[in-house]
Amino acid sequence: MKLKEVRSSLYNAVVGYSFWCVACDSPHAFYTHDGYTNNKSWKLISTDPVTVQPSIKLTAPYKNETENYCCHLFLLNGKIRYLTDCTHYLAGKEIDMIDFPIPNFE
Ligand SMILES: [Zn+2]
Repeated sequence: MKLKEVRSSLYNAVVGYSFWCVACDSPHAFYTHDGYTNNKSWKLISTDPVTVQPSIKLTAPYKNETENYCCHLFLLNGKIRYLTDCTHYLAGKEIDMIDFPIPNFE
């Protein structure tokens, strides 16, 4: 399973999806339900193979560093295309999406 549904009891509906990011070795989520977050929502164009628009970008401060950690990617035709502004080792690379390596990871 490449995508997991993210459900909200408040909306009683699927509000988004999560997937496993190989570079960050952790799940990332994107939200398709308008109004669920204050941020823009994403469009799930296709589930098999997975295609999502627009890109998904996560940033976080590094401990004791001035620059932020950045993971910025497209989910396109079942692949993760990492953009060059990523600060991790897969910047500029494209890899196949993988199943969640940890069963029942939420
Ligand atoms: Zn990531």
